[in-house]
Amino acid sequence: MFDALSGRLTGILDRLRRRGALSEADVAEALREVRVALLEADVALPVVRSFIEDVRAKAVGETVLRSVTPGQQVVKIVHDALVAMLGPPAPGIDLNAPAPVVILMLGLQGSGKTTSAGKIALRLRTKDRKRVLLASLDTQRPAAMEQLATLADRAGVMSLPIVPGQKPVEIARRALGEARQGGFDVLVLDTAGRLAIDEALMAEVAEVAAVARPHEKLLVVDAMTGQDAVTVARAFHEKVGVTGIVMTRMDGDARGGAALSMRAVTGAPIRLIGVGEKLDALEDFHPERVAGRILG
Ligand code: GDP
Repeated sequence: MFDALSGRLTGILDRLRRRGALSEADVAEALREVRVALLEADVALPVVRSFIEDVRAKAVGETVLRSVTPGQQVVKIVHDALVAMLGPPAPGIDLNAPAPVVILMLGLQGSGKTTSAGKIALRLRTKDRKRVLLASLDTQRPAAMEQLATLADRAGVMSLPIVPGQKPVEIARRALGEARQGGFDVLVLDTAGRLAIDEALMAEVAEVAAVARPHEKLLVVDAMTGQDAVTVARAFHEKVGVTGIVMTRMDGDARGGAALSMRAVTGAPIRLIGVGEKLDALEDFHPERVAGRILG
């Protein structure tokens, strides 16, 4: 009787030992490595901290799979948590609103905002069969208006004729009128970028958003952006409310940690990624690929 009982207990203990559970020490050691990887991938420090804490709480006590080491098991938990946080996969642009659906492009100068506007126009025309009107509200730099008109030509879509001397809000109104009268499905508004966040830029963008009532407010961010990503995302999100993120320059060396920072601050999905200078260099977002890249 005793033998039989101990035999059964031993069996249970053996099974438990073989499966094992992650100890605090296993988790702490593995998470130290993960922390370094996230920082090297340019994830903003506060985001790294809260992510690591979440994963620590989740990982301690988790069963270790037979085929892996405790360290590998923590990495798997981290990877899965990253994918979940970076997701959803391939959300694309949300066009679920009455025409003309207004898309407002937001971001700092040089982030790839104007190029992305052209890429999105091409994608909507060719993939979604939409009639698209592009308009530049960048009254600071006449060259930016010309650039958008050229991109529109190359994308095979219309652009709003340039009228010198108009303010961004006036251009937005004119663009809306044109989009309605012309029976366009989508109006893409490119806003002025600055080298850094400033009050004047934010006030202007908020004024334009109030007039144009965009369905999508897309924040365009260069994948190379480091700790700044949080400041930029927070500023735009507080002022106008970001509905989606476009990550550019994912064709470069950057590991793309900015994606995680942006998601953490805005909660908005990463809708598309830019992978080159050409107009067709725009791809769906796959969280598992970016998670792998961030972890290195
Ligand atoms: P904006 O000031 O934010 O409107 O930036 P632009 O759209 O003018 O882009 C700045 C530069 O970045 C241009 O030379 C673009 O060709 C380039 N660019 C934009 N997106 C990408 C991308 O996804 N990959 C690469 N390699 N270059 C890009």
